[in-house]
Amino acid sequence: MPELPEVETIARGVDKRVRGDRIVQVWFSRLPQPFKSPRARQAKGLTGRTILAVHRTGKHIVAELGSSASEHEREARRPCAQWIVHLGMTGRLLVTSAEIPLATHTHARLFLASGRELRFVDPRRFGRLEFRDLGREAPFGAPGDEPLSIGEDEFAALFRGRRLPIKAALLNQSLLAGVGNIYADESLFQAGIRPRRRANRVTRPEIERLRKSLREILTHAIRLGGSSVSDYVDADGERGFFQLEHCVYQRTGEPCRRCQTPIRRIIVAGRGTHYCPNCQR
Ligand SMILES: [Zn+2]
Repeated sequence: MPELPEVETIARGVDKRVRGDRIVQVWFSRLPQPFKSPRARQAKGLTGRTILAVHRTGKHIVAELGSSASEHEREARRPCAQWIVHLGMTGRLLVTSAEIPLATHTHARLFLASGRELRFVDPRRFGRLEFRDLGREAPFGAPGDEPLSIGEDEFAALFRGRRLPIKAALLNQSLLAGVGNIYADESLFQAGIRPRRRANRVTRPEIERLRKSLREILTHAIRLGGSSVSDYVDADGERGFFQLEHCVYQRTGEPCRRCQTPIRRIIVAGRGTHYCPNCQR
């Protein structure tokens, strides 16, 4: 499942390749599954629009679209619609040239004026595609705060008065947008905090360590992802991402990289959770 750094990397890669291009035609598969807004409405809404920018919001990829009708340059540069892509478990967003054969499970093809195509491929169909007309609907926003840019006080406020385990709070998407299991475990390790500690009992200095660890780990992963993005968005897209060398995630029983104590696995918030019983308190 793509995590925040992967989604960020994909969004940047797609942005680099399609920014300024125009959608001339749209094709959708006949399956009802990945379409959050009706297919016909999406196709009609997308056709003719210019892609102004592509970015990440939470774990969603958002394409900002210009007007399709306006001849005025300035008018055409103002976002007035959005195409929102959630990759789900297995979704991929590919920028390809037209002659690249279609992958099975291709659900969407956006034909661009440059001759390229933006394709959405998703074997398990947990991904979602949505169109928003900003003249009539609010722009897409993730419910939680952005972990890469949240400030010290705002971050501390997220956990105040919460009796649930700190890891459960980290995974709560309405508090923080896009933090998944790997990055929750790794940031708690780096901050020296046990995943089961109650959020309201974690001290302010620990909370601040956690905020910095989370940001560092995510930023590092985005940097590494950047080097493999062309594999991901071009043609086959099968190779995925450079694997981070994890400290605790899925290293149950293996020695801690800091102190050699075997890494333990427990369940927190229904998720497999890995920590070092010596380094994390
Ligand atoms: Zn340790």
